[in-house]
Amino acid sequence: SAPVLTASNLKRHYEVKGGFMQPAATLRALDGASFTLTPGKTLAVVGESGSGKSTLARVVTMIEPPTEGELVIGGKKIGPEGASRDRDLRAMVQIVFQDPYGSLNPRQTIGQTLMEPLLLNRPEIDRKERDRRARDMLSMVGLRPEHFDRYPHMFSGGQRQRVAVARALMLEPKILVLDEPVSALDLSIQSQVLNLLMDIQERMDLAYLFISHDLSVVRHIADEVMVIYLGEPVEMGPKDVIFDAPRHPYTKALMSATPMADPSDRKERIKLEGELPSPMAKPEGCPFNPRCWRRQEICLSVEPELQGGNPAGGGHCFACHNPVPEDETAAA
Ligand code: ATP
Ligand code: MG
Repeated sequence: SAPVLTASNLKRHYEVKGGFMQPAATLRALDGASFTLTPGKTLAVVGESGSGKSTLARVVTMIEPPTEGELVIGGKKIGPEGASRDRDLRAMVQIVFQDPYGSLNPRQTIGQTLMEPLLLNRPEIDRKERDRRARDMLSMVGLRPEHFDRYPHMFSGGQRQRVAVARALMLEPKILVLDEPVSALDLSIQSQVLNLLMDIQERMDLAYLFISHDLSVVRHIADEVMVIYLGEPVEMGPKDVIFDAPRHPYTKALMSATPMADPSDRKERIKLEGELPSPMAKPEGCPFNPRCWRRQEICLSVEPELQGGNPAGGGHCFACHNPVPEDETAAA
C-alpha cells in the first residue's frame, strides 16, 4: 500500500556552544535520512549508541523540526519551519519510549493516563465515551478491567509498557515510533510485549518505526531494516537481506558480532577498529572510513551515495565505494 510517511534527506544539527579550550561546533546528530513508512509494516532502525536513533524518533514525532530536509505525513509537509498546530496531523504519529518507570505520571491512575490524550485533543468527546474508549484500550493491550483505577507503582515494567502503548493508541495514530520499547524489560517479558505490538500492528494497520540496538529483537519484529552510522543511513533493505547478505562493511561487522540461532552457521567475526567518532567531528569522505577494513584511497575524500536501489522505495541500498562482494556475503 501507499506510504503513510515519507522522509527526504532529514537532518537535525545542533549548534553546540564552546567551552574551555573547546570551540563552538555543529553536532550532526541526524545527517540525511530518506525512507518511507507503510501501513502494517515495520522499519527497524539499528545503530550504535549516539548514532542518532532517538534524534530521528523526535523528528519523526514532530517533537523537533528537521534542520534540513522534510517529512510528508498524510500529505502534509513538515520542514525546518516545524509542524503546524494541526491536531489531526500531530495525532497521526505517537511515540513509546524505553523507560517504563519514568514515562507514566505516578499521581494519575491508569484510567486517567489513558483518558488524558482524549481530554486534551478531542474535547468534543464526552466523559462517558472517553471512559469507554480507555477501558476498551486497556483490554486491547492485555490488561484487566480492575487495572483501570490503579496507580503505576502497582505495575511491573512490562505492564507499564502496555499502558504506554495503550496511551499512544488513544488518538488512533497511523504511525507508532517505538524507541527501544523493550530494552529495559526482562528477556521473558520482552517477547510478550513484542508479540503484543505485532498483534496490534496487524489489527490497526499501523506503520512502525522501531528503534533498537538489539539485533535479535530486530530480527523478530522488522520487515525492513535501516542501519545508521553517525546519523546517516549506510544500508537499508528487507530484513533477510540485511541480516544474511549485507553489503556495507559496517553492517557486515555488526551482523558478525551477534550469535545466530544456528550454531553451525560458521561466521568469522569482524572486529571494528577504534571508537565511534564524535558527530561534532565527522571524518571526511565516508564517515565509516577510519574503522573500515575495506577502506580504499577514495573513501578518505569522497562520501559514497546510497546506491543499488531507491532509498525511499523499499529496495536494498548501501553507501559504499568498496562493498562486500555478493558471493562473500552469501557464503559467510
Ligand atoms: P542511544 O542508543 O544511546 O540511545 P541514539 O542513537 O539514540 O543513542 P541520540 O540520542 O539520537 O543517539 O544522539 C545522537 C547525538 O546527538 C549524540 O551525540 C547526542 O549527544 C547528540 N544530541 C542529542 N540531542 C541533543 C541536543 N538536544 N543538543 C545537542 N546534542 C544532542
Ligand atoms: Mg536513543
